[in-house]
Amino acid sequence: MNPTQDSRPPTHDSRLTTHEFRSWVEIDLSAFAANFRALAKLTPPNTFIMQIVKADAYGHGALEIARTAIDCGATALGVANADEGALLRYHGFILPILILSPALIPEIPLIIENQLTPTISDPLFATAFNELAPANYNVHLNIDTGMGRSGAALSQARQLYDLCEALPNIFIQGIFTHFAAAENDPVYSQHQITLFHQFLAALPHLPQYIHSANSSAVVNIEHCPGNLVRFGALTYGFYTDASQKEIIHLQPVLSFKSRISQIKTAHKDDYIGYNLTYKCSHDLKYAIIPVGYADGYDFLLSNCGKVILHDTLLPVIGKISMDMIAIDLTNATHSVTGDQVILLGNAPHLRVEDIAALYKGSPYELLCQTGRRAPRFFYENDKLISTAPLLRREFVSSDYNNDKLNRIIEAAMQQRMQGSQIADFVYQDILKNIFSDQDNNIHFRHDFQHSINFSIPSDPEMQNYFLTKTSLSFRKILNSASFRIACANNEANLNRYFQQPDVEYRWLLDESLNLSPDSFQLVSASINDIPLYFSTRIINNCLEITCYHEKLHKLIDQEVLFRIDTLTWYPRNYHQLTVYITGITHKFNLDFSYPPELKMENIIPILSGKQKFPTLTQNHNSATVTSQDWVFPSSGIIFVYNVD
Ligand SMILES: *Cc1c(COP(=O)(O)O)cnc(C)c1O
Repeated sequence: MNPTQDSRPPTHDSRLTTHEFRSWVEIDLSAFAANFRALAKLTPPNTFIMQIVKADAYGHGALEIARTAIDCGATALGVANADEGALLRYHGFILPILILSPALIPEIPLIIENQLTPTISDPLFATAFNELAPANYNVHLNIDTGMGRSGAALSQARQLYDLCEALPNIFIQGIFTHFAAAENDPVYSQHQITLFHQFLAALPHLPQYIHSANSSAVVNIEHCPGNLVRFGALTYGFYTDASQKEIIHLQPVLSFKSRISQIKTAHKDDYIGYNLTYKCSHDLKYAIIPVGYADGYDFLLSNCGKVILHDTLLPVIGKISMDMIAIDLTNATHSVTGDQVILLGNAPHLRVEDIAALYKGSPYELLCQTGRRAPRFFYENDKLISTAPLLRREFVSSDYNNDKLNRIIEAAMQQRMQGSQIADFVYQDILKNIFSDQDNNIHFRHDFQHSINFSIPSDPEMQNYFLTKTSLSFRKILNSASFRIACANNEANLNRYFQQPDVEYRWLLDESLNLSPDSFQLVSASINDIPLYFSTRIINNCLEITCYHEKLHKLIDQEVLFRIDTLTWYPRNYHQLTVYITGITHKFNLDFSYPPELKMENIIPILSGKQKFPTLTQNHNSATVTSQDWVFPSSGIIFVYNVD
């Protein structure tokens, strides 16, 4: 898989502190990175790493975990379903994303729209997928060598392989299997390996990727078949078997914390909690902690859970309620309400394996359920770098595609703008209410300068076109060390780039021109006067240019000045040029200059935003459109002209 660098920036929100919350989850991304690197050291050289981020990265937050894993060298992500993959795409991740579980046929359009890689386990799905997919769409085959779950049964696997080979729109990019007990059954694992090798050996040729190892297998099984490994559990900092402690050091990544909300005294023979399961054997002080099984603190921890308060391990007494637990304060009598309690995580006896062992549960499950009503705080080197609010369990709903969203925003704007309220305030407010996402306001562009220059080409072969120079500059908070520029010669193809936050510029080329660096050329790109490296590729009928510089990592989260200069062609007989404004923009200036044979007939601004009518200035051979205010998406300026 392409080792494409795509990162998401950390976001800041100084308004949030843990003090305000009844419970919260702390995610130590540095611990995650250390676990990832320790595990990567145990993989054979030249092995690709796929980070598994299913179930919101085992309850840790898929976006931040994916970003960190990519920074550490992961070149692919694994998810459980199309929705999880779509969410990652929505947030700008462009690397390959494999859906590990069998998908349902109705999910196929979402898979294709988001360029996700499906896992094929049966012929019905393969045939249905082939009908909807464009040619040579990458898929992975899952072969069940003894896990007894998803995947093609070995007796039918070859048939499935042959079918997929024959289907024109399916391209087998990978074949994998999954171990049933990698962490503690080497004999059974070897048996699975043998069966997998036998299956592979009989194939006419092998695909690009073969994979079998999950994270436990990397530590516990030698010579796992394949050139790719799937990192999960161990990167999240828990041991799936005690044997691993001698081979690798893992740090817990997630900690779950709360505070004392009430302190009480009970007397000998009093009961605590539902159904009288705890009877006090002596007078005692106890505390109420405002988390229960609805927060993911498992019901089975009733009368056996442990928490840490002031570095002291204290027992949970009575049944876990939906929203509360009680803890015995006998060994921490000096406690007061508001004191912090650690329920799970990076503390002695509180690792997720320890807590799950108290009720013979699964640490995987406990992590996935922990903190259902808690905001997340992400740390890097003990520094808070981002937060995810209380009710964020994100999904991308079709209710909120860009079109609908814009219409909602526009309607709300129109209502409120009757008064004299400030447009940007309303806009941010609406966005926040819709997404409860703190980082939407980082996508604004300021001081947007766009100039377009038409001139007569010297090359007689191009006489039907204007040579078109565009130059663009704007200020914006940098959120990644790279960005893309996209060009297509068909609207549908270009439209795919509209939802992608890392695409800073799009150009629609006339259909008469071939997509090539000759027809659309990036002359230069810079950020804060740092000239960027760029590489051009043609992918899915689009010309995509990625601009990058390693120095940009240091500028992330700061406002920077982008400059983009391009050279392209525009058909002479077109009579109109439309310039779209696709992002939220504060102040823009659009400058269009042209040769004398072009006669400007009309300039039609279609602006959504506070100021519907920008300032128009027209000179001999140029026209300028300026707005000093906020301009919202779905805006554009149409220049209508004649050519002598
Ligand atoms: C979840 C999953 C993994 C990751 O397994 P861990 O035990 O968490 O390392 C790998 N492969 C597949 C197919 C999975 O479903």
